Amino acid sequence: MEISNVRKNELIELAEFVADDFCPKGMIMPEIIATRSGITYNYGEYGTYFDGVLEHDAGEFHIYLNKQNILYQDNTRLRFSFAHELGHFFIDEHRNALKKGKSLHKSYHRLLPKNIIEYEADCFASNLLMPPKRFLQFVHKRKFDFSVIESLSKEFGTSLSATLFKFVEIGNYPIMVVYSENNKIKYHWCSHDFPYKYFKEHSSKKLPPLTVAGDYFINGITCEDAEIVNANDWFSSYEDIRGVKLFEKCIYPTYNNVVISIIWQ
Ligand SMILES: [Zn+2]
Repeated sequence: MEISNVRKNELIELAEFVADDFCPKGMIMPEIIATRSGITYNYGEYGTYFDGVLEHDAGEFHIYLNKQNILYQDNTRLRFSFAHELGHFFIDEHRNALKKGKSLHKSYHRLLPKNIIEYEADCFASNLLMPPKRFLQFVHKRKFDFSVIESLSKEFGTSLSATLFKFVEIGNYPIMVVYSENNKIKYHWCSHDFPYKYFKEHSSKKLPPLTVAGDYFINGITCEDAEIVNANDWFSSYEDIRGVKLFEKCIYPTYNNVVISIIWQ
């Protein structure tokens, strides 16, 4: 599901405007934005039904945030949910629908959003928490390696995956992010100027054995650091890429036998 570039740019502009207006310096604080916009909110334990909900009643808006099943130290997911619900408030069409008594949905946050409304609120949230101008200012100060992503995630209070997506979108260094599950490549995202487009195991979608992700699925080995891999172990190319080396850094989330590889030159 995609939204048009025109619409996307509108949402980016809106999010950046809200960010600069309410939190011109330092980390974006959704609580401050809510309070100063007259929106009340609370954190509660609401089972597994939703991450956040924006409710409207007689001109008043309230955000419910679900902290159930969220690790004590990991507030990046709560911050993203909060920013997503603020999106439903600041995006005119969403707020007007709520005011007319229509229910938008309950918001679930997965890698692939379910519909346009959700996608729009996620787009707003990502650009509110990581305003593009500030994000680019930060990345331009440093030479790329994985620690840049970690510092960005700390600086902006966003999860590694949200930070990675933003970096793929607007970062200053070509990277590819590969999401694999049960020894199959499930999704991948790359910067527009990442040099390789075709996986070697194009048809089977299996992880090549001589990659860091492949090493995990085949031998159960995890690597803390970025490792050097051969470009032609990951990719096919019309050019001769024998001898070309790439970096691969893996993240091992604790669910669904998933590995996320970040690959760069
Ligand atoms: Zn939503």
